[in-house]
Amino acid sequence: MKINKGNSVFFSNVSARSWQDWHWQFKNRISQMRILEGCANTSAEDIAQLNKVTSIYPMAITPYYFSLIQQGDANDPIKAQSFPDYREIFPDKDAQEDPLEEDARMPVPKLVHRYPDRCLAIVTEICATYCRHCNRKRYWAATPKITLKKRLAPIIRYIEQSPQIREVIISGGDPLTLDDHVLESLLSSLRAIPHLEILRIGSRVPVVMPMRVTRELCRMLKRYRPLWFNTQFNHPREITSESGHACNMLLEAGIPVSNQAVLLKGVNDSPETMKSLNYGLQKISVRPYYLFHCDPVKGCEHFRTNVKAGLKMMETVWRQCSGLSLPQYVLDVPGSTGKIPLNTLSRAIKKELQKNQHFFDKFKQID
Ligand code: SF4
Repeated sequence: MKINKGNSVFFSNVSARSWQDWHWQFKNRISQMRILEGCANTSAEDIAQLNKVTSIYPMAITPYYFSLIQQGDANDPIKAQSFPDYREIFPDKDAQEDPLEEDARMPVPKLVHRYPDRCLAIVTEICATYCRHCNRKRYWAATPKITLKKRLAPIIRYIEQSPQIREVIISGGDPLTLDDHVLESLLSSLRAIPHLEILRIGSRVPVVMPMRVTRELCRMLKRYRPLWFNTQFNHPREITSESGHACNMLLEAGIPVSNQAVLLKGVNDSPETMKSLNYGLQKISVRPYYLFHCDPVKGCEHFRTNVKAGLKMMETVWRQCSGLSLPQYVLDVPGSTGKIPLNTLSRAIKKELQKNQHFFDKFKQID
């Protein structure tokens, strides 16, 4: 595979071997604003402003993800997702740290149980790259000092004692920032629970640090199937030969890969970009599964569009794309109601159906 360090002069002296090593990528994450001075079109004044942001919401960008930024483009979609923005610290009064009320639905620390049949385990707060639009950014600066073993024990015990749970989503932070042996010990503990049928990993690693998906990792994950993998591509430029290769390795190990994008203003809120993202995903055999409306999270308001604009965009996409390349546009709400499919609320779609009475009658029955 061709090694692409993008247009980044910053890492030009790095050997191809280091570049391909995920430990090197992780260790060399860009976490200090001053490192960016002079290499990302950022003035000293901007840096000072942005240091204030990172004191609340830290910054980390893998060299790989950083290399995808087109230097000189102030509105670059990769930069927008990874580069601190002073608007993060001037939140809207309606924004909340935890709008989905996950923390209130933790029967034991770090285990979110919102639906009867499944739960979500936050196994780490650490990510390869911190996405500025993250709905769990409240955790970034407050990494608990507790060991992973101590964290996982009550989680495993709770799941063992809850026979109604058939699926566990291993999330974070990013669980693939953990080493293989740590992940394997977690997966084997979960697999030993007889009533647990499905394991799911939520990770953005294929997008931001694809070299983490190694042959050894895939061989290990394969042993714990049925295992599903959800990732988050938000822009077509994130679909590179490296990220495509990472997804392909997972697929070849028999692990289905789906995408959960987030609708982000200035990143993917145009029909052309959304279409190209979903076509691109289809080409690398990743299923466009959900498009989440951006949650009203403190520090993320500048990414939020309104639902009306989102529906308008999706109507264009809906008219032009095949079903296999269409994610379901959803709004996540607190509690056990969960994800509301927004497409079904679209008046234009209903109007479309009205043109054909036969189908409209059917639609009314399920409306
Ligand atoms: S990888 Fe996931 S948990 Fe981590 S910052 Fe990005 S969206 Fe948030």
